Amino acid sequence: MTKKLILAASLVLAGGAASAAQPKVIAHRGYWTAPGSAENSLASFTRADAVGCFGSEIDVWLTSDDRLVVNHDRVYKGTDMEKSTFETITAIELPNGETIPSLDTYLRLVRSKHSTRLILEMKSLTDLNREDLAARKIVEALRAHDLLDRTDIIAFSINACLAFRKLLPGANIYYLNGDLPPKSIKKLGLKGIDYSVRVLRRHPEWIDQAHELGLEVNVWTVDSDEDMRFFIERGVDYITTNYPEKLQAMLRE
Ligand code: MG
Repeated sequence: MTKKLILAASLVLAGGAASAAQPKVIAHRGYWTAPGSAENSLASFTRADAVGCFGSEIDVWLTSDDRLVVNHDRVYKGTDMEKSTFETITAIELPNGETIPSLDTYLRLVRSKHSTRLILEMKSLTDLNREDLAARKIVEALRAHDLLDRTDIIAFSINACLAFRKLLPGANIYYLNGDLPPKSIKKLGLKGIDYSVRVLRRHPEWIDQAHELGLEVNVWTVDSDEDMRFFIERGVDYITTNYPEKLQAMLRE
């Protein structure tokens, strides 16, 4: 090999190593800021996949008749996700003209794409027994669609995190609530922390602490240039954003 070739090869290797250490981009509630999209819509997953996001996040509720639907707000257009039926909820129109999708419909779409990971948030419920039921039903649905290997689970509820851990030992489960230091998350046997910008700005040391414990770090919702730069420099593993293409462009710089 000539000197030039060796130099070129080492540059490629160095570039590869550097990009491997970059945070992975997760679209928050899907890529809903894209044209024709809406939060938690089917289009939001399609758009996240089309621009090559590492992952696309959704929020999942258990309805009053024990079905699973994909939506963020507890009360949306006057309808309470926990207290209403599947039929009522899935008739509600989203801003892009779709209706609120069932988890089943959503998973069928995810299955049809081949690279983008699903980041599934189970919303906290008022009754812990119902959280356990929701976790069981979510696992059943993921298994039925053969998506267990392509899904990460996130939750604010410790009860939900532990219910998933019991159902899926070894699964990627991240805690959202921001009130526990990494050493507690390690003890609970979770994969990592998925904390807000506010929490990780207050406790930037938790990022290195988590890594030293072998945990992963995700941060939400990172939309400003300043926050994006801060968390890229801090070396988090994942950044969850409403503006995935802006973040991707920054990572390419
Ligand atoms: Mg969410």
